[in-house]
Amino acid sequence: MTLGNAAAAKVRLIVWCRDCGHQVEPDPSETAARYGADTTVPDWRERLVCSKCVSREIDMVVTEPLKASALAALRQTAETLQQRPSTRLRM
Ligand SMILES: [Zn+2]
Repeated sequence: MTLGNAAAAKVRLIVWCRDCGHQVEPDPSETAARYGADTTVPDWRERLVCSKCVSREIDMVVTEPLKASALAALRQTAETLQQRPSTRLRM
């Protein structure tokens, strides 16, 4: 998965420091814009440094707010949704 994929799928990125417990949920869209949409999530994590204690022991999870089946259906209807920008998905 790349940061661009993460932004497009509207996943939640949760990252935390294993040394001091500092935790953040960076916005995937902003993260993709800042680090590059082609950057893979593991590569991005490797580059993270804790803003509190400057540790590089960063761990993370990617949480998909939509169930996999719903996501597959979403991809199939993505074209339709793009034609109806007022359509919003509840998460
Ligand atoms: Zn830390």
